Amino acid sequence: MKHVLDHIHGSALPATATGTVASYIPALAKADPSLLGIAVVTADGEVFSTGAAETRFTMQSISKVLALAYVTDRMRRRGCLLPGRAGAKRRSLQFHDPPGNQRCHKPFNPFINAGAIVVSGLMPGSTPEDKGARFRAFVGQLIGRDDVARDEEVYISEKATAARNRSIAWFLKELGILPGEVEETLDVYFRQCAVSVDALDLARIGAILCTDGMDPTRGVRLLAARTTRVIKSLMVTCGLYDGSGEFAVDVGIPAKSGVGGGIMASVRDRMGIGVYGPALDQHGNSSAGLEALRRLSEELDLRVL
Ligand code: GLU
Repeated sequence: MKHVLDHIHGSALPATATGTVASYIPALAKADPSLLGIAVVTADGEVFSTGAAETRFTMQSISKVLALAYVTDRMRRRGCLLPGRAGAKRRSLQFHDPPGNQRCHKPFNPFINAGAIVVSGLMPGSTPEDKGARFRAFVGQLIGRDDVARDEEVYISEKATAARNRSIAWFLKELGILPGEVEETLDVYFRQCAVSVDALDLARIGAILCTDGMDPTRGVRLLAARTTRVIKSLMVTCGLYDGSGEFAVDVGIPAKSGVGGGIMASVRDRMGIGVYGPALDQHGNSSAGLEALRRLSEELDLRVL
């Protein structure tokens, strides 16, 4: 496997030159566009990586998957089901698309900012700091680290420039959809997006999803099986913004990207995959990361669709 990853790294690396790093959050523009990291954690807990697999970056939209898992598991324990509240339609795929369904008063999709901000508003805790810390502890539980940190510079940078997300949140408030106070809920959202991980961490999370919620290395259940099913279905239909359809055809596995350059993917019963490449294509997905996943899917026959 290590040999396969090294080979794929070499052949996907030129695709870094076809993308550009995100700059609408100014701190993200500092990333090195020439990087590519690939990591795999198998269903039986073996770990393989190559390239910049241990370079830290912010989760950005990949945090939407974990926030949904976190809140869904918690609400199920209290007898509610989240997608009923945050919506689960593959309706609009640009990450910043506005709001939702005014008639039924819910946003369409928890992987699009409007839905994700509602999910952030449902996180447990007393203050944004507390909610952010609890969310990081949850992420730490999944990836087996107790030092999961927030990238302070990216967090402050997004918070200072998020006019569009602010307008989405105020619109949601006006529709009566957004729980909590607008700035506080946005603060929770910015904190979750700025959680710092590497490609290995993403592969570990993908491996948990691939075994329907079990931790392959420790053999304990970390997520309810139904939660993982909801999440993986959303990943298939809308994990890569407007690139989701093409990705389903080309690669054929559940995946979620973020504008920090990460993509987290999961192949049922086989492996979790994490890739990092901050140069993004026109849809906001890592260009070299996509190329690596295409080649990996082909080489290892990973397609499940
Ligand atoms: N924090 C980013 C935003 O809301 C996340 C976007 C993304 O990764 O797609 O704009």
